[in-house]
Amino acid sequence: MSTPFPRAPRAVGLCCTVILLCLALSCSKSNSPYYSGPSRTAPGHAAAVSDAGLTLGNPSSAVDDPGQRENYLIEYPQFVLSYNAAKGRPNWVSWHVGSQDIGDSDRGQFRPDTTLPQEFYRVVPRDYTGTGYDRGHHCPSKDRSNSREDNDATFLMTNIMPQAPGNNQGPWRELEEYTRSLVEQGSEAYVICGGTGSAGTIARGRVSVPAYTWKVIVVLPEQSGDDLARIDESTRVIAVRMPNTDDIREQDWRDFRVSVDDLEKETGYDFLTNVPTSVQDVLEKRVDRG
Ligand code: MN
Ligand code: MN
Repeated sequence: MSTPFPRAPRAVGLCCTVILLCLALSCSKSNSPYYSGPSRTAPGHAAAVSDAGLTLGNPSSAVDDPGQRENYLIEYPQFVLSYNAAKGRPNWVSWHVGSQDIGDSDRGQFRPDTTLPQEFYRVVPRDYTGTGYDRGHHCPSKDRSNSREDNDATFLMTNIMPQAPGNNQGPWRELEEYTRSLVEQGSEAYVICGGTGSAGTIARGRVSVPAYTWKVIVVLPEQSGDDLARIDESTRVIAVRMPNTDDIREQDWRDFRVSVDDLEKETGYDFLTNVPTSVQDVLEKRVDRG
């Protein structure tokens, strides 16, 4: 009767320890405010949507290699971006928006991008606190409002730049809304945007503030099939460049229209790379008049 199963208590103890450890790990994961970054290979429409971000090209030839600190490619199902670890913000973010992307999802919460390579600083929402700059979305929350998961992705700090409130809440927002109004009227759009120039830094030098914000929008009638092949000399392309300052709040976004050529010269990127050169030549020198 003394010890029929002498090792049992130890085995049970070990078992409990393992179970508790697993519970603790899974709890800490799901409860952490820094967890729940979108997977880069989400099921469902992932492949199609992710590809859409590169349909028109990869304007800085960004690469998914942590050695490329200043031009690091990240492909999410919701948008694609080139991250610049030296600037603590993307060089550009690119996405497609159609009627199926817009819905009634609640707005998510800003959070660091935990998928960044370990050696990159991960910008946190409080890095912007008290700086006078908005946490400005590249891909707007509303452009990914058809599901909570898609909307959450837009709140990753890798989709954010320091934007003067008068820019972000003024003509920049007007242009975002104008783009969605085109979608509501039967168009779809390929959009790419970013910041350029330098207006100092925030977060003790970890995040650089752009002097200008720029955007290129290619508008097509919403239709299935090969969008790239439908882009021709008559396709509407809207390009803008706005000072990242407060004093433009009341201005019309149309006042800031430029040509794609202007933006290519300023950024050094090649936009619409996958569009035939003869078509690029025509579209890129035109300034939108719509
Ligand atoms: Mn915004
Ligand atoms: Mn080009």
